[in-house]
Amino acid sequence: MRPAPLSLLLRRAARALLVAALALTMTAQPVMAQSILRDAETEAYLHEIAAPIIAAAGLQPNQLDIILIGDKSINAFVAGGQAVYIHSGLIEAADNSNEIQGVIAHELGHITGGHVITSGQGAKAATGISLLSLLLGAAAMAAGAGEAAMGVMMAGQQAALGKFLAFNRVQEASADAAAIGFLDRAGISGKGMLSFFLKMRKEEYRYISSYSEIDPFMQTHPLSGDREAALSADVLKSPNYNKKTDPALDVKFKRIKAKLIGFMDDPTTALRKYPETDQSPSAHYARAYAWHRGAYPDKAIEEVDKLVASAPNDPYFRELQGQILLESGKPKEALAPLRIAVRGSRGTPLIASLLGHALVATEDPANLAEARDVLKVAVARDRDNPFAWYTLGMAYARLGDEPRAQLATAERYALIGDNRQAMASAEAAMARIPRGTPDYLRAEDIALAARGAASDRRK
Ligand SMILES: [Zn+2]
Repeated sequence: MRPAPLSLLLRRAARALLVAALALTMTAQPVMAQSILRDAETEAYLHEIAAPIIAAAGLQPNQLDIILIGDKSINAFVAGGQAVYIHSGLIEAADNSNEIQGVIAHELGHITGGHVITSGQGAKAATGISLLSLLLGAAAMAAGAGEAAMGVMMAGQQAALGKFLAFNRVQEASADAAAIGFLDRAGISGKGMLSFFLKMRKEEYRYISSYSEIDPFMQTHPLSGDREAALSADVLKSPNYNKKTDPALDVKFKRIKAKLIGFMDDPTTALRKYPETDQSPSAHYARAYAWHRGAYPDKAIEEVDKLVASAPNDPYFRELQGQILLESGKPKEALAPLRIAVRGSRGTPLIASLLGHALVATEDPANLAEARDVLKVAVARDRDNPFAWYTLGMAYARLGDEPRAQLATAERYALIGDNRQAMASAEAAMARIPRGTPDYLRAEDIALAARGAASDRRK
């Protein structure tokens, strides 16, 4: 599991142009603490539970991203037509897969309902600001002035955005109705959607005394009495109401939740939620992360060894084993578990890039060619991974292929929105890569796009 920069989130959101709800500013945490979390197991799980609902909504599962944000507040929102964002806090607050499916179905209802804010529509009149320009401004600041400046700006807009982003009652009711249709068509119970919304409302009452502690989900998706009544009636009369979730999905859910708690909570809290007396696989998982983050590598390895003993070929257990070894300064020992993890996950790019990182970290020249090859395949399948590009650039540089090191660096800067550096690196690559080759054309594309983006900003 690895956080990606917030600028990547903003870049994705800005690319979509129309933004329905962005709750970045409503959390008690500083904005800069937020980032996209990339984790192969969680991404595979979210894709698996969402795919039938996305298909039932008439959308293409491969064209819709479900993006996990590392933020302990409870929220989910949509940005543009192509992505549903879920806070890690929402998964922590859920009790089973069916609740998360309900939230995803509801968010898809906002997407298919076209509940988007266009500049100039009512929202702008209400607050006098354009969310789009705010987003683009924030992205520009992230690239230029650093995240601290952005945090200040976002905080200043907090009150205005709170009202600005909430869906209205009509939109909430229509998203519910759409969601129930999707779940019905997918043969999934709406029980989780109902129980999750009701649970959130209880939370809202609990924290009502302090505005900043109200979880944003209920503010962006208000649950009125009318809405609750309609939702309950529709969910109850569905033929799928008593349909059970595949038990295998809930096993996966427990693991994901434990992993997120281990990764996101402070280690003491995680260890309290999963005390030593709990010997379930999820508890070992949570504690392995907690100990690792608390800088107790030996304890972390002890926990992960128990997981591996219970399922030696589980790719995600092996991935964690490799990650802990790598990050505690034992890259050579990390190679064997990471190779098993890559094989077992059919070359999942995030895990492959971790193997590439470990190979480079051994500082053994004999490993560099393999590192380059592994990382090339990883970025070909998943371009949105700045750290993989960084590591690939390092492998090329150590192999003496400076032009391709520059190209990988250009890719990384383009991805994190640093157009000036992207352009400089791409031009350096073009100067030495033979004209007309695929690598040359790619460098040319990056240089052109970066130049275009830079001149757009000047206007
Ligand atoms: Zn909603």
